[in-house]
Amino acid sequence: MVELKSPAEIERMWVTGQFVAQVLAELRERARVGVNLLELEAHVRERIRQRGAQSCYWDYAPSFGRGPFRNTVCLSVNDAVLHGLPFDYALRDGDVLSADLAVGIDGWVADSATTVIVGTQAAPDQRLVRATEEALDAAIAVALPGNRIGDISAAIAAVANAYGYPVNTEFGGHGLGRTMHEDPHIPNAGKPGRGYTLRPGLTIAIEPWFARTTNRIYTDPDGWTIRSADGSRTAHSEHTVAITEDGPRVLTRAA
Ligand code: MG
Ligand code: MG
Repeated sequence: MVELKSPAEIERMWVTGQFVAQVLAELRERARVGVNLLELEAHVRERIRQRGAQSCYWDYAPSFGRGPFRNTVCLSVNDAVLHGLPFDYALRDGDVLSADLAVGIDGWVADSATTVIVGTQAAPDQRLVRATEEALDAAIAVALPGNRIGDISAAIAAVANAYGYPVNTEFGGHGLGRTMHEDPHIPNAGKPGRGYTLRPGLTIAIEPWFARTTNRIYTDPDGWTIRSADGSRTAHSEHTVAITEDGPRVLTRAA
């Protein structure tokens, strides 16, 4: 069931979204060569504690993971793309790090992800990150009342196709608000004009992610981390967006 949010509720999600944006910006700043993933996890955990926020990941135990998750941020390096379990690993020059953060404040959730290249930026990695960011922008641009979920999906896939990256449709975007995952599901590829009609008050996380040379994935032996099947590098960009009469409002973009 899709729950539409009132303008006041969207305002509360925006408050959460600004916190998520701030913490992700701090992670981008801190993601330097030699920094351990566990230090980044500890930073997020402390920020959530200070803010009196609730981690959406802590104790999360979905069917696709080996729950419960006991971390506050997903950190996915290189061929890892989603649900990366923070572990004892010091970042190396040229690593591609995705950070995905979902928290609730006073019962309202926001979810966002960003990918940063650590140290030396290899051109193929920059291109991959740029593709996910452009796909996210293209998807947000069509997140308009009267359009359909399929328009968002198609916008993401069109950018992937233009760049030559295959698209996986198992994991994609989703509704959110009171919880991290609500209806509708938003695949990262689909047909324009199909699916649920976007209405003012719909709040969704849009999250294109691509691997350079495959659309297949597997789960790491850690039970959580999802990796590209062929070991190719990956990137992930995500924002929480509210559909409004005035167009898309990106709740997790720093004001
Ligand atoms: Mg996320
Ligand atoms: Mg999400």
